[in-house]
Amino acid sequence: MEALRLEQDKLDKKGNLSRTIEDVQKTIDLLVAARATIAADGTSCAPTLAKLKRPIKASLDQVNSDIKDIYSAHKDYSKALDRKFKPQSMPASHNDALSSQPALINRAIAMHLLREGQFNVAQTFISEANAKPHSATSNGSNTKDAHDWDSLMQDADGTPLYDINRDSAGALQSRFAHMYLVLDALRKNHNLNPAIEWARQHSYQLELRGSNLEFDLCRLRFVELYSQYDPDDHMSCPLKALEYARQTFPNFSARYMRETSSLLGSLAFAPALTSSPYKSVFFNDDAWEHAASSFIREFCAMLGLSEKSPLYTATTAGAIALPVLEKLERVMGEVGGQWTSVNELPVEIPLPHSYLFHSIFVCPVSKEQGTDANPPMMLPCGHIIAKESLEKISRGNKFKCPYCPVEGHPKEARKVFL
Ligand SMILES: [Zn+2]
Repeated sequence: MEALRLEQDKLDKKGNLSRTIEDVQKTIDLLVAARATIAADGTSCAPTLAKLKRPIKASLDQVNSDIKDIYSAHKDYSKALDRKFKPQSMPASHNDALSSQPALINRAIAMHLLREGQFNVAQTFISEANAKPHSATSNGSNTKDAHDWDSLMQDADGTPLYDINRDSAGALQSRFAHMYLVLDALRKNHNLNPAIEWARQHSYQLELRGSNLEFDLCRLRFVELYSQYDPDDHMSCPLKALEYARQTFPNFSARYMRETSSLLGSLAFAPALTSSPYKSVFFNDDAWEHAASSFIREFCAMLGLSEKSPLYTATTAGAIALPVLEKLERVMGEVGGQWTSVNELPVEIPLPHSYLFHSIFVCPVSKEQGTDANPPMMLPCGHIIAKESLEKISRGNKFKCPYCPVEGHPKEARKVFL
């Protein structure tokens, strides 16, 4: 890694175009000056051009030599990269479940670009994806041609995946544009107004979701008003905050009685908040970022989308899994084993906690992981086994639980949703 870092430093020093640009500018300056001389005095044309010959050649030679340096720095760096990272075939490339689903991949990319605020790139991507319909893939599965945004945003059988997909690309874009407007105001200008306005408009839905966003924003406004400093009147700002609380907090009293009373109690500590129990509320640098990420979460939830881009989550999880998959493939190759289970990896991939979205059921009888086709089933006694195991044990008749003496009929088993 050290060698790579040295090459990286070299590339930073030598591999940039700033010197070349300076030298090109010098050449341009020479030409501009010559043009001015000739324009001022037509008779000086021939001698000016003659005088120009040598410096222009020297200047161009200099540019060429600059570019050579850059080229060699890039070459050295790519050699160092090749030495450090030996070329390896990507694991499981023959088992690529997504290659037959170009429409799904295009949609994931389009949605990712839109929700990241890369609107121009998204528009170009959508029009290019629609201009080049997918060709049938090697396994002959029927992939849908996407001729417009609507087909890009629909499931293979034509049903929209989210309600939001009734939106045109433009409508979806304007929603996300609004999200970034609110976020910019929050993050860059510490301006709460657009966020509070949005939360107020969606107050009912937010409450249904059990969200604290609206109250959190209003609390932040209270703290903001309170903390503004007026040198002429030390109490004027806390009193402004009190006035704001009188107007706003009654809306929250049902759910946040404790919090609102506690905030009002801070007035008693107005002159010396730093040494009061309210220190963490009033001097919390993370509050704005917390409000911003809470806003993103609620905004996306209203659109039926997750907080983080699914494409980002999937690619990051994939990148974390790559070394394990690569090793798995190598070991399989050495022992001549085969990867037989299509929907299940034969090894565990350790992912960070935030990448775990639901529990996984492994049948205690067959040791297989539950799938949509083979879901966990709860027996009358409360024990849970996979559907296929249940069918094998019972064969449609009365059976005894493999883990306890209780008998039951397959009809009495209930599907379990994780
Ligand atoms: Zn049992």
